[in-house]
Amino acid sequence: MLKKQELWESCVNFHGHSCGGLAIGFGAALYAWELFDAEGPSEDEELVCVAETDACGVDAIQVLLSCTVGKGNLLFNLQGKNAFSFYRRTDGKSFRLLLRPAPHMTKEERLALAMAGDFEKLFEVKAAPETLPERARIFTSYTCSLCGERVAENYVRLQEREVLCSSCYSPYSRGL
Ligand SMILES: [Zn+2]
Ligand SMILES: [Zn+2]
Repeated sequence: MLKKQELWESCVNFHGHSCGGLAIGFGAALYAWELFDAEGPSEDEELVCVAETDACGVDAIQVLLSCTVGKGNLLFNLQGKNAFSFYRRTDGKSFRLLLRPAPHMTKEERLALAMAGDFEKLFEVKAAPETLPERARIFTSYTCSLCGERVAENYVRLQEREVLCSSCYSPYSRGL
């Protein structure tokens, strides 16, 4: 297993600075490894993370768990909570890590707990929401008949029999 200090440094390099939020994500990622009995980043889309925050911590998840926005296995269900649900597709194991309230805990204290493997002092382990997000799909592209730009099928709108992108489409809500 790689040394935790090196792992932390790789998170700081990716994120651009060292902060308390990153320490939370670092702790969550290491805890997820322990709970999954894994020792390294996931293969392709095997692991999925649904984050309830888009703050600093998600960068540690991207670095350590290989759950990334680009691969589509880091998803956001923004609730303003420091909570991360993890799912492993191969065996269906899942859990949700919720940061315990400790508003006065410093970055150094959080980091020390993560380094020591005292994860249960940082997070409560809860059941993950049952529905595992489906795998990232690949969509056909269409050309918007107004701006001529290519747009993926799942973002296409129809207006007067024309295919439009969302930017060119005029919403018809009449304030309702
Ligand atoms: Zn930060
Ligand atoms: Zn358009």
